[in-house]
Amino acid sequence: MQNVPKEWREEQSVGGARDKDVKPWEGREALFQNNTGNSKQDMSTGKEKKNGEMMNGGGKGMEGTDKESLMMELTRLVQKTVKESSWWELRGIDITILALSFLLLPPAFLLLGSSQALVFVLGMVLMGVSHAVITIKGTHLASHGSLSESPTWADVWAVFFIEVCGSFTARAGVTSHIKMHHAHTNVIGLGDSSTWKIPYLPRGVYLFIAPLAVPVITPLVALGQLKEHSMGQALRTVLMVFLGLYAQYWLLIHVSGFQCLYSTLLCMLLCRAMFSLPYIHVNIFQHIGLPMFSPTRRPKRIYQMTHGVLNLPRNPLLDWIFGHSLINCHVEHHLFPFLSDNMCLKVKPIVSQYLKEKELPYQEDSYLSRLQLFFHKYQELMVFAPPITELVGVQ
Ligand SMILES: [Zn+2]
Repeated sequence: MQNVPKEWREEQSVGGARDKDVKPWEGREALFQNNTGNSKQDMSTGKEKKNGEMMNGGGKGMEGTDKESLMMELTRLVQKTVKESSWWELRGIDITILALSFLLLPPAFLLLGSSQALVFVLGMVLMGVSHAVITIKGTHLASHGSLSESPTWADVWAVFFIEVCGSFTARAGVTSHIKMHHAHTNVIGLGDSSTWKIPYLPRGVYLFIAPLAVPVITPLVALGQLKEHSMGQALRTVLMVFLGLYAQYWLLIHVSGFQCLYSTLLCMLLCRAMFSLPYIHVNIFQHIGLPMFSPTRRPKRIYQMTHGVLNLPRNPLLDWIFGHSLINCHVEHHLFPFLSDNMCLKVKPIVSQYLKEKELPYQEDSYLSRLQLFFHKYQELMVFAPPITELVGVQ
């Protein structure tokens, strides 16, 4: 496929772009290359070599061999599958799911005009599901530039999904997700998921009540981010966020027939908060509580991601709404962040089998089990500073 090769190059590091804006398509290219290591030094296919190559700049154990690294070997296996995949598999399926979620909106607005309670509730559910697919799956894929091969369109989709639909700034969203979370997954002070922690909130409030305020908090946080933006970017963001919020408000008044300001705003809040609880849960479940790394002694990419990322099991509802890359293929997503949700699912058997063969972790746990863990160990996981893991000593 003509849209594969540039993701596989190994020339540029994320750090090289530190002082400029991160664009979605730059992210997918740079991320793939981040700390895969130098191919002349980063080798080892056997277990006996693992300790030597665990840490970046790991030294003498790696000199003088030309064997390929584990990451490169896995990459070649995944690349083969990607090359054999059609456009439908690469992007089409996920674009269709997003398109279907937009098609849910007209009936949702119409049903919300009903005076019958059940029909009204059905309208709310349709709008809540549609909003969640667009703002969780859509913004995530858009932030990775996975919706289009063209850089220009990747930019357009990032602004549309993150700003118009998600009420956040595309620049800050892409930067924090691509440049920090993905590039520095579980590295203390960089990508350690600490932005999700609100230590002064009791566990019950954090886990079950505070997430409902996400639709209100998101545009407020976006406003706070604008001081980092140029005047032009800030104006665009304010305009796009306003456009998204006002469009829903206008349609509720003129299509659904809402007449009161407060009931309209309440309906918007309820629809937008419908999946806030699992959204917050999923974001913390898959990284916090797993090994954390020091910025100065970080492991190489394949160790960083296999130790610091966890998959949840398949779940029809969350698979559709959040996307496989955020649920049951999060490990695959962190290893190959430019792949669409459907492609993450397609390469999952290859990745899981490879990691098991190489005796690397392939971490999986159920939603309920993680919820119980976070509830019972809330202080340890969400309040106290996490301990640093030195992988050299682990094996
Ligand atoms: Zn991501």
